[in-house]
Amino acid sequence: MLEQKGRDVISVEPDESLEQVSKTLAQHKIGAVLVMDGEKVAGILSERDIVRHIAAHGGSALIQPVSKCMTKDVVSCSEKDTVNDVMEKMTKGRFRHIPVVDNGVLTGLLSIGDVVKRKIEISERDTEELKRYIAS
Ligand code: AMP
Repeated sequence: MLEQKGRDVISVEPDESLEQVSKTLAQHKIGAVLVMDGEKVAGILSERDIVRHIAAHGGSALIQPVSKCMTKDVVSCSEKDTVNDVMEKMTKGRFRHIPVVDNGVLTGLLSIGDVVKRKIEISERDTEELKRYIAS
């Protein structure tokens, strides 16, 4: 999946305002960003966190820093995980984004869209193989 989508990860810093981060999400057409404190993953922030924060604090939420509303316990996966492993982690944790960490190094960020795309490709490939097998 990472080979297809690339390994670039859009990240922000913990003290950036939610307004700034909303702009980053909109500009890159993405639903979540990793929050990096230097080389260290400090958290993850998705559009859902921003909506919840606005619902709780009104418009003034937008001037607050990312660190106030990010999720700090980030669940990650490794490059060795299968598509099904990643799907299971997302379903269990009820989130749609997951960073990929290999040997302690951040190597990408997957979304549920990437997972669904890959699942469809696998299913189409299996169908074609079955059709060829039946026809042979
Ligand atoms: P999402 O479905 O990705 O928009 O996120 C829903 C909630 O889960 C938000 O509160 C996110 O901060 C949080 N979240 C998203 N991805 C992860 C992750 N990989 N590990 C832990 N929490 C996450």
